[in-house]
Amino acid sequence: MKKVFCIGEALIDFVAEKQGSDLSKAVQFTKKAGGAPANVACAISKLGGKGIFVGCVGNDPFGKFLLDVLKHEGVDISLVQLSRTFTTLAFVSLAEDGERDFVFSRGADKELEYDHDLRKTLKGNILHLGAATALLGGSLEKAYGKYLFDGLTKEMFISFDPNYREDLWKDEQEVFIKKCMPFIEKSHLCKFSKEEAQLLSGKSDIHEACNVLHEVGTQIITVTLGGEGTLLSAQGMKKIIPSIEVRPVDTTGAGDAFIGCLLNQISNLGNFDPVFEDFALLEKMVAKANKAGAITTTNFGAIVALPTKDQLEA
Ligand code: ATP
Repeated sequence: MKKVFCIGEALIDFVAEKQGSDLSKAVQFTKKAGGAPANVACAISKLGGKGIFVGCVGNDPFGKFLLDVLKHEGVDISLVQLSRTFTTLAFVSLAEDGERDFVFSRGADKELEYDHDLRKTLKGNILHLGAATALLGGSLEKAYGKYLFDGLTKEMFISFDPNYREDLWKDEQEVFIKKCMPFIEKSHLCKFSKEEAQLLSGKSDIHEACNVLHEVGTQIITVTLGGEGTLLSAQGMKKIIPSIEVRPVDTTGAGDAFIGCLLNQISNLGNFDPVFEDFALLEKMVAKANKAGAITTTNFGAIVALPTKDQLEA
């Protein structure tokens, strides 16, 4: 089984207690561990894989809480860095349909320093670059560029999720698009939401969007479509793979569960060749990842709601 290095932010999601309430009116919040790469590492570990989280948290009670949660879920946290800067916080409110709205108070995650020693262990493994905060500057952004280069030289399977957050980029969409391009060019697999695929390609039709994004470089594209499932585009073929029917209460973490489950399946292959050659295999993998995403929407919170191997097989 290959290791999956998930690089980026771990943060505290303060989730407004009253569902359907606007953030400005919310009074009570529940503390939950989050951050897309941390969620993906947990998704992989909960499914029995080797999820490794590489990120920076504050040397404070919130950072300790995050590390305790990751450890509890079986994530390898040996490469986590601690900072004097406070742990990154996000405040989240959920609308009645389970969609979310959030704001960041950015802290320690931006301080992740590139780790030279990590290069030694990368060869033949999987690198997942999926931080929502990676392209916002700080040493994390520099480290991202270096790890992308390492991934190429160490023959890794590279996965990229741009994790676009409108609150963070609304006035600078062009900058975001430009910064994403090298990652789309060099990654083997890109996971986009519909909105991300449209934004990054400039095309409203998602099939056309995939064509444009393949031209940038990436060979495998998944466009997650919520309850409709996922559009898979690879090897010159495209297919929407339906999800299972569920009653969602909170969509937080569904995308992370999806990509975690997909990468976990890829980590179990002897080598990466089949994902570039066998569309039917990819279809099966995406169907399973859809199920992981769907299950995650049926419970509140991101990490708690991620399915275990048994829940996924049930
Ligand atoms: P995120 O919002 O977490 O950044 P995302 O927008 O990519 O990520 P979604 O599209 O909401 O995530 O969900 C990922 C996958 O989970 C979908 O492709 C789908 O397979 C499954 N899924 C999500 N919502 C539902 C739903 N309501 N019913 C069934 N499956 C769902």
